[in-house]
Amino acid sequence: MSELDLAAFIRDIPDFPSKGILFKDLMPLLADPAAFRASIDALAAWAGPRAPDVILGAEARAFIFGGALAYALGCGFVAARKPGKLPGQTIEARYDLEYGTDALQLHVDAIEPGARVIVLDDVLATGGTARAKIDLVNQLGGQVVGALFVIELSFLGGRERIAGADIHALIDYS
Ligand code: AMP
Repeated sequence: MSELDLAAFIRDIPDFPSKGILFKDLMPLLADPAAFRASIDALAAWAGPRAPDVILGAEARAFIFGGALAYALGCGFVAARKPGKLPGQTIEARYDLEYGTDALQLHVDAIEPGARVIVLDDVLATGGTARAKIDLVNQLGGQVVGALFVIELSFLGGRERIAGADIHALIDYS
């Protein structure tokens, strides 16, 4: 299944979660066995040669893609979580969303110094979330070897927020 075909499994939902946002709903893609497998295969094809030690994803949809991708690559998965969710000692990075602001946390020992990390998300929108994840990796002395997305909304300019990273998205909406 090509990346163009994958786009057929992404549903547009206007004005969610607030007016003016065109929400890209990936649930149909996840629910379809061939499309889900093809999306993980395509993510793995890009990520594999970058030899990550871990995939870093934030809740919630990146947990689904990230867990499957880590399994496919035989590497680890690290969860960045909203404040108050991780039980151990944490570090934090704040970020702006396309809709609102928030923060992400990591356990202080989640990433070894020098570890090769690919930050993963379902959607690159304004880039705030990805920027926060990269900042978290940097705080722990890890090395970001890729920023990987299923979808990029390139008209929002998120790439500029993570300039310098090696960036790839399976599907671009420009
Ligand atoms: P951003 O930090 O602006 O790049 O936003 C990325 C995060 O917000 C991703 O985790 C997405 O799940 C979510 N997101 C932002 N905009 C959209 C959108 N238009 N459709 C679906 N998810 C979105």
